[in-house]
Amino acid sequence: MSPYMDEKLTKPYDPQATEDRIYQLWEESGFFNPDVCVQKGVCDKDAETFSIVLPPPNVTGTLHMGHSEMLAIQDILVRYNRMRGKKTLWLPGTDHAAIATQTKVEKKMYDEEGTTRHDVGREEFLKRVNQFAKESHDTIVHQIKKMGSSVDWSREAFTLDEKRTIAVRTAFKKMYDDGLVYRGHRIVNWCPHCYSTLSDDEVEYKEKKAVLYTFKYAKDFPFAIATTRPETKLGDSAVAVNPNDERYKAHIGEIFTVDLGHGAQTIKVIADEAVDPEYGTGALGVTPAHSMTDYDMAQKNDLPLIKVIDEHGKMTKEAGAQYEGLKVKEARAKFVQWLKDEELLLKEEEVDQNLSICYRCARPVEPLPSLQWFVNVNKTFTIPHSNIKGVTAGQQITLKELMHIVVQNGQIQIVPERFAKIYFHWIENLRDWCISRQIWYGHQIPVWYRDEETYVGVEKPKDAGWTQDPDTLDTWFSSGLWTFSTLGWPEETADLRTYHPTAILETGYDILFFWVARMVLMTTYLLGDIPFKNVYLHGLVRDERGRKMSKSIGNVIDPLDMIKIYGTDATRMSLIIGTSPGNDMKLSEEKIKAYKHFANKIWNITRFVVSNTEDTDLTVKPELTDHDRENLKELDALVADITKEIEQYHFYLAGEKLYHYVWHRFADVVIEESKVRLYGDNAVERSSAQWTLFHILTTSVTLLHPFMPFITEEVWSMLAHDKKNLLMIEPWPRS
Ligand SMILES: [Zn+2]
Repeated sequence: MSPYMDEKLTKPYDPQATEDRIYQLWEESGFFNPDVCVQKGVCDKDAETFSIVLPPPNVTGTLHMGHSEMLAIQDILVRYNRMRGKKTLWLPGTDHAAIATQTKVEKKMYDEEGTTRHDVGREEFLKRVNQFAKESHDTIVHQIKKMGSSVDWSREAFTLDEKRTIAVRTAFKKMYDDGLVYRGHRIVNWCPHCYSTLSDDEVEYKEKKAVLYTFKYAKDFPFAIATTRPETKLGDSAVAVNPNDERYKAHIGEIFTVDLGHGAQTIKVIADEAVDPEYGTGALGVTPAHSMTDYDMAQKNDLPLIKVIDEHGKMTKEAGAQYEGLKVKEARAKFVQWLKDEELLLKEEEVDQNLSICYRCARPVEPLPSLQWFVNVNKTFTIPHSNIKGVTAGQQITLKELMHIVVQNGQIQIVPERFAKIYFHWIENLRDWCISRQIWYGHQIPVWYRDEETYVGVEKPKDAGWTQDPDTLDTWFSSGLWTFSTLGWPEETADLRTYHPTAILETGYDILFFWVARMVLMTTYLLGDIPFKNVYLHGLVRDERGRKMSKSIGNVIDPLDMIKIYGTDATRMSLIIGTSPGNDMKLSEEKIKAYKHFANKIWNITRFVVSNTEDTDLTVKPELTDHDRENLKELDALVADITKEIEQYHFYLAGEKLYHYVWHRFADVVIEESKVRLYGDNAVERSSAQWTLFHILTTSVTLLHPFMPFITEEVWSMLAHDKKNLLMIEPWPRS
């Protein structure tokens, strides 16, 4: 070893000793902030912009491998575009996550002290949630840094901070003034355990065995109905049949008065295309208060709502004195017994059922009528200005139409494309969005009441006597504003003009509807524009056998553990290679380890090149041999290829090709072949080989930088070239 070589290079590569130091160097340089890049001439003041927002992680705990994958993909895009000379902004932040965070703290309180939020009161409870959120936030920020993410920390945002609160209230008020936000009694998905509403997308489904009961409302009733929830039939006001069903056609329009043991009940026979003649008896008891579809039928047919189940999941007074206060299961058993006694029960059979459950607590969801706030997706309003293709300022349009049109007209591209179809299907079936939640943590609804008056605004009215609506907003209401609330909206800031719409939104396909669609809704409505030009949906990270990572299975691979053992660069590569958009990926520790070997390989290559070139002036390009010219031609082709793959979001291919080239071409062939020339007597051959090896090394680490930022930056700093800049702002190689 030469005495001139950097002492570090004489030892094996040590990510632990390198990564934190490099990250600090980057942060101190200020180059994560595009303003600094402009000031220091890294990019032109009028350069093309490239901006993305970090999907804000929930302040519910720590980041998992899915987050790490997201951070790795986004950092590749950001570093690549920064090196391309674009004015590049990656805006970070965290999400308060309302119900998820509140549930965590409630559970913690219950486990540790046996108390509930009601025991401590709203103010004290929120103090505790805020404390918990703050701690989670700090952990998350640490993890984002550990992943090497080149986010602009000077612009960090939180969905529940002061600026975002103004944005949320401004958005709510505007929607209210346009008649798009309303309060009303509607059927909502209610979780009696969480004691809150759930949006349609927060309802999950579980395959379950259930009993299908076939019975008649009365002995003289002309036909039977079938149901898995007999206790709700106490609230029926109609029977629906398919209009083409010959068995029942003649009865359509008839009205019966029956008594299910709790007083007279009017049952009308109605026709509805939605009824499946093949299911049960083909006749469906209509329970408007406890089913969304039945509610729609009730609206069309002017049927009354009879609420027989309350918010605690217990039977109401309207269900009858003998049922009042019973849990639904108890009421079911009692009512079925009554049907048996009255000889009305005709059949009991086991069927497969798709049970609706709460995505938080996995308990059954109870649809019921409730006074809530909604966003009307079907009401027309006048759009004041529009950058949307096919929509002109002053046009009458609905939120649903806006959400549809920006994907239909290609202004927003979804990768992979198959998700566009799923998106359209979802919009077709979209109902009004219930945005109020009966929880304490979150954006309290900006509506104040005094006697008969209602006030909606950004701030509480100054005069006395007003009380604020106790409910909070669905967490997706605030994260729906994320691409522009983070840039200063509702103020007309320079950031908003420069960086919006953002270039791309990169997120998991599992939150396409929860979040991506809500961002489209909010942005098209409030800005008359799109939030992003591209949506890149990554898959979920699964274990090596393809199972979901979960604590109960014990197959969770923690990103921080892997970083500690193998380094961030290796962890990042393992999350990029072998994955394609929209498809789940399998991850194993072995895979991560393999890329640690690759980092070592890069290190050894560097050691070889440095020790064989330090006696020569590499800034002067020597005469090159034909052989080296061929080597450089191959390198040029690689540059063009990698650039193309990144532009097309084929990160896995770009990473794989770089890996292959560096190891199997550069190290195995080019370096091996060079040895005889480096150690030989031919001066031309020698200097040509030296210059070529050095050039391939610098180009390779430049191309690898977005993928493996730490080791490449470290290698760069040890090369004896005239470039004193950090690699992170080095121009992307041209082919
Ligand atoms: Zn629940």
